[in-house]
Formats: sequence, C-alpha cells, structure tokens
Amino acid sequence: MPEIILKNLTKTFGSVNAVDNLDLTIEDRDFVTLLGPSGCGKTTTLRMISGLETPTAGEISIGGRVVFSSEKQINLSPDKRDVGLLFQNYALWPHMTVLQNIAFGLENMKWSKEEIRKRVKEMGDLVKISDLLDRYPSELSGGQQQRVAIARTLAPNPKVLLMDEPLSNLDAKLRMEMRAELKRLHREIESTVVYVTHDQLEAMTLATKVCLLEEGVLQQFAPPLVIYDQPANVFVGDFIGNPSMNFFDAKVDRVEGEMIVLRTSELRLEMLLMKKDYEVKSGDEVIIGLRPEDIELKPYIGENTCTIYSTLPSGMETVVRAKIKNTMFSIVVFGRVDFVVDSVMEISFPSSNYLLFNKETKEKIGAGSLKLT
Ligand code: ATP
Repeated sequence: MPEIILKNLTKTFGSVNAVDNLDLTIEDRDFVTLLGPSGCGKTTTLRMISGLETPTAGEISIGGRVVFSSEKQINLSPDKRDVGLLFQNYALWPHMTVLQNIAFGLENMKWSKEEIRKRVKEMGDLVKISDLLDRYPSELSGGQQQRVAIARTLAPNPKVLLMDEPLSNLDAKLRMEMRAELKRLHREIESTVVYVTHDQLEAMTLATKVCLLEEGVLQQFAPPLVIYDQPANVFVGDFIGNPSMNFFDAKVDRVEGEMIVLRTSELRLEMLLMKKDYEVKSGDEVIIGLRPEDIELKPYIGENTCTIYSTLPSGMETVVRAKIKNTMFSIVVFGRVDFVVDSVMEISFPSSNYLLFNKETKEKIGAGSLKLT
C-alpha cells in the first residue's frame, strides 16, 4: 500500500529552514496538494519524497518501506523509490515521436516489445492521445504535450505520483480542462498523488487533502472543505478563499455561557459559539472572521443598515463592498444581481459559521452565529 509517511522531516539551506519538522501521513490513494506562498517549502518537500533532495533530518517511508532516515542512515536513490515524477518543464524528447517518448522508459526497464505495445495503447486511450502517437512534440499543442508527459509518467505504473506545478505552463482554459482530466485519472489509476501548486483553486479542487505550509511549517492538513470552513488559524483563513475572508479586531466584553459580547472599534456584536476549541474570557483580544458569501444584503428597512461602497458584477456573482460607519465588509452575492453605489441597504449574518481567532496566537477559538447589537 503506497502510504507516504513523513516524520520530523527537516531541510535547512544555510540559515533557511525550508521545511521544518514536517509530520504528515498521506494515505493510500490520497490526492494531496502541497500549497502555500512562494518559498514556503512545497518543492523541497516533494523533492525530498522523490529522493532528489536529501533531508537534513527526519524519516520518509513509502508503502511501508523506509526510503530515507537520518537516524538509520538510509537514503534510497530516486529510481529505487518506485515513484513517478512530473514537473513543470516536462521536456519531451524532441527527436522522438509520442509513441517513442512513452515507450522509452519501458524499454530501459527491459519490458518486452509486446508489453510495451500494449501499454502505450492503454496510455494513449487513457489520456486521449491515441491518434497522435506518430507525431513529434513540436507538432502538438501545449495541452497535448502535457497529456503525453502524463502518459510517459504513468506508463511504468508507479503507485506514487509526484507532480510539481504540472499545469502552470498551460493557459487558463486548458488548465481547467486538465484539472478535470487529472482528477478523473486519479480515480482510474488508483495511485497516491502528491501535487505541488501555489494556486489555491487548483489545490482545493483537485485534492482529497490539502497540506498548507508557511515558511516550512505545516499550518493545516485537511480535506478542502474543512480547510475552507474550519481554518486552523488566521493565516489559513486568509490564504484560502477569493475574495478573502473579512477580519476584524475585537475585544471580548462579556461572556455568558456560549454567548460572547464583542466590541470592535465601531461595532458591538453578539456571537453564539456553536463550536469551541478554546475557552474565551472577558478582556480577551480576538479576531472575528467572516467569509464574504456568509454576509447577506437585503432591501432597506432601517435596522442594520450599510452603505454600498463599490460593486463588481461578473454574471455568476457580484463582489460588493459595503460600509457600516467606517467598517468595510467584502460581500459576495451569487446570481445575476447588481447594486447601486451609495445606496443604503440592510446587512445580515445568516450563517452559523463565523469564526473567532485568538489575536495573539492567531489560532481558531471557535465558530458560531453573529448579530449586530
Ligand atoms: P515556489 O512556490 O516559489 O516554487 P516553494 O514553496 O516550492 O516555492 P521551495 O522551492 O521549497 O519553496 O523553497 C523553500 C525555501 O528554501 C526558500 O526560501 C528557498 O529560497 C530555499 N531554497 C530552496 N532550494 C534551495 C537551494 N538549493 N539552496 C538554497 N536555498 C534553497
């Protein structure tokens, strides 16, 4: 079973901690995306799993076999780890046809002619390039080249696939198409995938689990919707989601059981905590987090009024900025709607998943419903 386990995995380059004590269990047939801002350690992590980079410390096992251990002084070379690699610059051999490109690795592995012929056909059907087998790479579009590269990687049937931004050279439309193809492929080939991307949409849509890193440190490892709804800390809440989550600094005025009275610089709110990770007490400094689509705008009735500051309709949704006094909210309204700038409307908070974070540690305290008082 190709489960990948990283234990205290660390890589330092001089004074830079590229990856810092990473513990991760990637289960068999997971599709894990490594996500985070530039320089957070995604590629270094992938390269350490593949064997292209030697960790400073820690242990890596793949399918129950230790492939690296600083303590036991084990370090298997990449070709002994039974992993398929696909990188951004997937460089097909230009002087070889598509067929030869896919067959090349299998010939090196001493597959028989008959096995190779069968496998190339299977791969061609799988990534839909059967009619292109006699062409040279220069005669293919970017998307077709990408498919050939995938076929070449998959041909030896690796049980672990490691990919580093494999779609970043493609245009937006093709990238979207290839994402869907990759997800379907993952279902069909039943392998474990680790996939580096800095594109949060790509990370969220492809993954069974997202591993979000910042400065080499794991921030959260969870399925996409858990990451979205229950971010472990302010960094995760802020990094995931477009437009970004609204954050407001506040002070806890009073706590009555699960009900918390909060004061921002201008507003007074009551939050009823439905989920609680830590105790809150009066005087605590906190941060309130609200997803833009969890805020509703309604026609004016004179209760909780806001003023429309700007509006960006895009057909499927409209991104609105609205103010209560000087407090600006970013709001997403789904559907073909638009609003009048400077008009006055009602604002309401119908969700029960507004988040509360500790201002000092930035960790999530809990989630609940919210109302203006
Ligand atoms: P990006 O999204 O920009 O590709 P990343 O998350 O993949 O970034 P890494 O390439 O893993 O980040 O780099 C992590 C850190 O390690 C960065 O600070 C980087 O500058 C540093 N680093 C990576 N490789 C080396 C190297 N060979 N020598 C020195 N520093 C390195």
